[in-house]
Amino acid sequence: MAREFYIDDDECIACGTCAETCAGCFRFEEGMDVAQVTGFDCPNEEIQEAMDICPAQCIHWKDE
Ligand code: SF4
Repeated sequence: MAREFYIDDDECIACGTCAETCAGCFRFEEGMDVAQVTGFDCPNEEIQEAMDICPAQCIHWKDE
């Protein structure tokens, strides 16, 4: 089962990097205040990469 994760909306700076890194599970378009999680079915490694590259470090696994 895919691990679930979330974006801390208070910390997100709306840069869109997560959606560029992992388009299948993140959505960001110009004008949006924060990125959105669209699903949990992406490879964990890809989600981890989005977490690592997020400049605000605001993407977190739900079970940690
Ligand atoms: S990479 Fe991080 S700061 Fe940038 S839009 Fe995604 S969640 Fe927000």
